[in-house]
Parts: sequence; C-alpha cells; structure tokens
Amino acid sequence: MKISCIRLGRITVPLRTPFQTALRRVAAVRDVVVILESDEGLLGFGEAPPTAAITGETEGSILSAISEHIAPALLGREVLAREENAAAVQAAIRHNASAKAACDIALWDLHGKALGAPVFRMLGGHDPRLTTDLTISVNAPEQMAMDAREAVARGYTTLKVKVGLDPAQDVARLAAVREAVGSQVRLRIDANQAWTPREAVRILAQMQARGLGLELCEQPVPARDLEGLGYVTRHSDVPILADESVFSPRDALTLLERGAASMLNIKLMKCGGLTPALRIAAAAESYGVPCMLGCMLEAKIAVNAAVHLACARRVISLIDLDGPSLCAEDPIAGGARFEGRTIVCGEAPGLGIEGIDPAAYEELAVLRL
Ligand code: MG
Repeated sequence: MKISCIRLGRITVPLRTPFQTALRRVAAVRDVVVILESDEGLLGFGEAPPTAAITGETEGSILSAISEHIAPALLGREVLAREENAAAVQAAIRHNASAKAACDIALWDLHGKALGAPVFRMLGGHDPRLTTDLTISVNAPEQMAMDAREAVARGYTTLKVKVGLDPAQDVARLAAVREAVGSQVRLRIDANQAWTPREAVRILAQMQARGLGLELCEQPVPARDLEGLGYVTRHSDVPILADESVFSPRDALTLLERGAASMLNIKLMKCGGLTPALRIAAAAESYGVPCMLGCMLEAKIAVNAAVHLACARRVISLIDLDGPSLCAEDPIAGGARFEGRTIVCGEAPGLGIEGIDPAAYEELAVLRL
C-alpha cells in the first residue's frame, strides 16, 4: 500500500473567547490540514497551526514546506514503512517543525489505520483517559478571577494561569485567581518568557509567601537564556517547567544535562510530531524528569494525536491539552472525546480521525504521484 495523494487545506474554527498571552491575541483557530491518501483509499489526517510568534511558521511557510519539500519526499512511499517515512519527513527540510508535525501525525494515523490498531495501543498504552487543565488568559485581575471561577464551575480542577503581561501586576493577578477558586484547585502559571531571572525568583517567592500555592511555573525567562532558566530552577522552590526553551530532542538533552529545568513541556508543533516527541519523552524518562504534554491553539486533529501520545507514556504526567475546549465548535469527526477536564482517547484504528465538516474546511492544493 503506497501514499498516492497528498491534500493540503485550511480549517477554521472560532474560539469561545479571544485568547490572550504575553505574546499575542487570537480570535479563531485557523490551521493547515494535511491529508495523506493511500492507493487503497485510506486517509491519514494531520494539522499544523501557524504560530509565528513561537515557531516562526506562517500558513504560507507551512504550505510551501510541505508542497515543495516534504510531499515530494513522501509520495509513492510504502505506508507500513513508518519509521523510514518519519525520517524522510524530518530530513526533507531544516526547521519547519509544525509543517513536519502535521505530516508525521498524518503518517501515524495512516499507519495505524493500515494495521487496524489505535496508535496509543501500538505504543504500549493501556489507559485511554486523561485529565487536562484549562488555560486562563492574562487580563486584569478581576477578569481573570471571573474566568477562573467559570472554569471551575465547568468542572476543571487544574488551571494554567497566563501571567507576564506586566510583571508588577502578576502577584495581584494570581492572588485574585486563588481567592476566586479557593484552596482545592491546582494552579500552574505560565509567564511565556516575560521575566528576568532575578525578577522570576522574586515574584515566585512573593507568590509563595502569600500562600498562593503554585504547582509549577512555566517558562519564566526568555527561551534562549538557559543560564537564567537554570538560575531560577536552583533558586526557587516552585518547580520550573521549560516550554519555549525546548523544541527538539536535542534541546531536551541540553536542558536535561544542565539540570536547567525541573520539567519539560513537549508540544508536537515545536518538536516536529509524534516521532521526535517520543524521543524527548524517552530522554526525560532517563533523567527522571516529568513531562507536560501541551498544545498550541489547535483544533482536534493535532490535539488528538497528542492525546494518543500522552496515553502511551507514563513520564508524561501533566496534561495541558485544552485546544479543543477553547473552540466554540468541533468540525472534526472521530478522534478523542473532550468532556470538560476529561479526555477519552478513541479505540478506532490509527488516530481515529474520520473526516472534516466541509463548512469548516477549504482545500488549497492536491499533490499526486
Ligand atoms: Mg507555555
């Protein structure tokens, strides 16, 4: 069975409310979709969000990377040669991690469908249930308190609170959220690179002194400041989770060797898909470092792939897969079920994606052998 056709398109899904971080503001998910078609009519689905502020990739760059470099390397290949196919995706072009992720995800979906097995079971996973947090955007403290209260009313027991828009206000933001949700809700914060190392240590100490009860702090300092990240990790009693500082398996090894973070945030769109993500998980497990599995603003095709991975690896103990929960509708048939904080991985072959509502999908290119 061979890969005979590759379709590229765009999916658009409105968000429940605009998403605001220290880096950007977004009103709808608008992602590139890749569909690999076999000569026996099986379809493998992949997705990539253009997250220029983080990965440097735009819709145009993702489409070009796939149509000009990755697709020619995949067309005509044997569907069951998954490892060789995955290597061909990674070797087709440098960088462009999200474009590669979309294709790698589609390869896993197609491979699993050809074998008749769900990907999380192919990887040795057994428990199909996950519990995710929900992200609270950075805003004025009162607004964040309101959003947090609403999230808890929807059943979430862990919130990821975005901070870092202006460091002076961050303790007030978190205090407002903690007061709104009470002591039982788990709070993790994400500063999205906004603080200096010394500022981070001071702000985290202030939050601890006020009894705000932080589970962890994600990416307190700029991505490239590994020295600073290690400084915060050593000087704060809040566990530090690296996000923008770790893209590739090689980045993960650098951080692990230096002991620069207490945890790693794996995202398929940073590392290039399920195949490289499995390497990061293996490295982290070797160092006894737990991982979070996170996502960008993604619709269900990509997040569903992350769900399969999280269900298959015990070292992935922190789940931040709220992309579909932030969307106002779900135009994807098949895949995991997102029921508030609970995610249930599907048992259908591959990643289980069956199709996309035509109203949300626009085809942009068809590439054939
Ligand atoms: Mg983050």
